Amino acid sequence: MSGPETLPLFGEPVAPGPLPDPVAPPTQPEPVSAAPPLTEALVVDPVAHAAEIKRFYRRVVIGPDEHCAIWTGAISNDGYGTFSITRDGRERTVKAHRFAVAYQLGVPVAFGQVIEHAACDNPICVRAHPDPAVGHLWPSTQADNLRRMAARGRGGGRPRWWIRRWSGLLRHERAERSRALAAAVRDRGWDETRVRAVLLTIDPAQMSLFP
Ligand SMILES: [Zn+2]
Repeated sequence: MSGPETLPLFGEPVAPGPLPDPVAPPTQPEPVSAAPPLTEALVVDPVAHAAEIKRFYRRVVIGPDEHCAIWTGAISNDGYGTFSITRDGRERTVKAHRFAVAYQLGVPVAFGQVIEHAACDNPICVRAHPDPAVGHLWPSTQADNLRRMAARGRGGGRPRWWIRRWSGLLRHERAERSRALAAAVRDRGWDETRVRAVLLTIDPAQMSLFP
């Protein structure tokens, strides 16, 4: 973290959890778990949940540089990634991006707390990081400030081809695009041509995301 725009997010800055060594992601999409949603705060402990974290990141294709980290596991009908975890001996389902925030930012994510894809609007992006210049995901309490910072930090507000207005899509359209994006990188890893082919079907975001 550097520069005058660095903000303390949750009191003392936290170090992001280490990412497991990259491995080839599974080639097939996962079915969405039928387990009920977790209704207590989501806590991801780097030690106690190490196996779960490893399983999570096997389903993530991390784009280069400032690009999104794309979830390739189960995707529900609202277009968001889902991940199954075990808490108190019971299987529970959480949104993939919320799991990434709980782990990477090292904070509990309360049930009902809004987490925004402030930088990219991409529902299956899981690029959470305590550095605002790196992370795309923020609790809504920080999202407005960080969105403006992100706009400045990423090219002075100039539009980026990969920033699209996903929130303008209908629910079924969003799910369709999410699944297409996951499929575009699942078997071969990050490929800009394939990612572009999906994202450029979505309206550009420059006017609505960065007013
Ligand atoms: Zn993103």
